[in-house]
Parts: sequence; structure tokens; C-alpha cells
Amino acid sequence: MTPDFIREALRQVRYPGFSRDIISFGLVKEVKCEPGLVTVQLEIATRDPKVPEQIFQDCHAILDPLPDIGTVKIEIDVKDAPAAAGGLGSTVGKSSIPGVKRILAVASGKGGVGKSTVAANLAVALAATGAQVGLCDCDLYGPSVAQMFAVNERPMANDQDEIIPLEAHGVKLMSMGFLLEDRSPVIVRGPMATRYTQQFLRQVAWENLDYLVLDLPPGTGDIQLTIVQTVAVDAVVIVTTPQEVALIDARKAVSMFAKVNVPILGLIENMAWFEGDDGKKYHLFGKDGGVREAAEMNVPLLGQIPIDIETRERGDSGAPIALVSPALSKISAAFHQVAAHIRAKLPL
Ligand code: ADP
Repeated sequence: MTPDFIREALRQVRYPGFSRDIISFGLVKEVKCEPGLVTVQLEIATRDPKVPEQIFQDCHAILDPLPDIGTVKIEIDVKDAPAAAGGLGSTVGKSSIPGVKRILAVASGKGGVGKSTVAANLAVALAATGAQVGLCDCDLYGPSVAQMFAVNERPMANDQDEIIPLEAHGVKLMSMGFLLEDRSPVIVRGPMATRYTQQFLRQVAWENLDYLVLDLPPGTGDIQLTIVQTVAVDAVVIVTTPQEVALIDARKAVSMFAKVNVPILGLIENMAWFEGDDGKKYHLFGKDGGVREAAEMNVPLLGQIPIDIETRERGDSGAPIALVSPALSKISAAFHQVAAHIRAKLPL
């Protein structure tokens, strides 16, 4: 019996509800093999007691029947993790990124719904409240922060080999895009991509941030789960557009975050309508899809953002709409309102 053999066997144990195994998630911290005794130590960040229970049972189910294994001891260290939904506030687990007080993730069930636009504008609006804010673009395959903030330098490293974030519009910025040699698509997939992302999240010198906004990759797969497990996200905002195909995926996102006990701050319905010069609202993707969905899933609707040419132009040119005075732009006002809500729900 060797630790490597045990680790290999434990690859059959999945994280409850997901396709990835506990080894590739990095949950197994140590395996000790002594005569007649195998001890496996795991570390899990969750507040759902069912998760460690299930993993405990599954580890035993795999290891106990192995010939000559002797006694199997599974020790699970359950780390502080984000509070259960509804439990926002003082009980929320502290972020595990040094120098960062609060971590807010912005997620979506699918790409192209405006998740990065929302993340960029919320970061700018949060900074306008006087908070120290960082924005981390975690999308390995389609990073967009460089464009949305018109920054294209390569970041420097400090003496500890940590990456020093760039800064624009009062927001500290980090993106996978800053580190890529060119704009060619990244070809790493699966566990490799997950490891990259984990390393990336840990190696940035944020220093004195009140809020770190994580622009998650679109979708609800292992990479999103890993990020949430790696950094103890305080809460998540889910962005959707109003049409059924987007709502189906938003539902998946809500259920994924609920499953891993990340509090869902609410839904943002983006591209909710288009307002013509005639002042009429045209509901291109259907009316109030996000409103209905939020009610159905019992999560707050934080805001509705219309389709707007200036919002798109400003996103493309590196000056997010939330930089415009809320008195002059309804869309900017909507983002500032959501930022105020975030500050209230995630106090420092
Ligand atoms: P995602 O991150 O979900 O893939 P992006 O934020 O990159 O989506 O947005 C995709 C495109 O849609 C971008 O060109 C962006 O400027 C544009 N966009 C997003 N939200 C709006 C909006 N409310 N009005 C107009 N264009 C928008």
C-alpha cells in the first residue's frame, strides 16, 4: 500500500454533484500508509455538512474493500467557507486572498450576456463609493478586462514573485489577458486550466482591497466551482438576458452556487429592452424574463439594464458607462444602485 496507490484509488470519489474528483480538486492534503493503517486527510471549504459526510462515505466505500488495506481513517478538516444563502453579513467567512476583505463574483450561465460589462461597471461604481476595489478577469479563454479598461501593458512582478495589478479608473486590474503573449486562444483545458486559474488567483499582490470583483468565466463547470472553492467567495451576482435560452442557463448557475453554499446576492437582467428615440421600450428578447426568473428562484432582482449603444461603445473603448454621472445616465445610475446594495449586503 503506497500513498500514490491510495490517491489513484481516490480519483473515483467525485465532489458531490459535480463530475470532478476530489484529487484533481486538490482536496486531499495528505495520505499516510502505516502497517495496518491508512490515514487520508482532506480539507474542504463548505458550510454544507452533507458535503463532507458524502465524501467521507464515498472514500470509505472505495478504500475499505481494497485487499490488505487494514484500517482506513478519513479525517476531514472543514474550513471556513461562505455563509449559506440568506446569511450575509457578519457571519460571512473571510476571504482567503491576502489583502482582500470581500470577494464578489460575477457569473453567468452562458457567454455573451454582458457578464464582463456588468463586472467592469460594478467595479467602477463600487470604487466611486470610496472603497478600494480590484477587478480580476478569470476568463482564460476570453479575457476582456484589457479592452474594457483600455490597458494593455504587461504587469510587473514584486520581490515575492507576485504580479502587481495594473490600474485604471481607480480600479486595480488583473486579467489572464495581461499575461498572454498574444491574442491567440489559450489551449489548456480541463485540470490544467483549473490549476492555471488557481495559481493565477493566488499570485496577485492586491494589497488593501475592500472589494475584489471576480469576473468568472461563463458557464457552470468545474472551473467556476474550483474558483469558488479556492477563494471563499462572499457572494455572487448572476447576469442573464431575458430570453428563455439564457434563463435556463442562469437557473443552472443559481443552483450550482446554491449547492456550494455561495450566497446569491441576486440576478441582473441585462439587455432588458431597447429604448428608441421615440422613448418607447422595445423588449427585443421578451419582457421581464429576469424578473420572473428571479421570483421563481427566490433570489432578488438587483437591476434591469437596457441595451444601449453608449454602454457598448464605452465598453469597447475602455471607459465603462458607470464613469458617467448617475444624474446623466440611467444606466450608470442602475449600476451605482447595485453597488450601493452590494456595500450594504457585504459590509466591511
Ligand atoms: P460576456 O462577459 O457575458 O461574454 P460581455 O460583457 O463581453 O459579455 O458583452 C458582450 C458584448 O455585448 C460586448 O460588446 C458588450 O459591450 C455588449 N453589451 C453588454 N451589455 C450591453 C448592454 N446593456 N447594451 C449594449 N451592449 C452591451
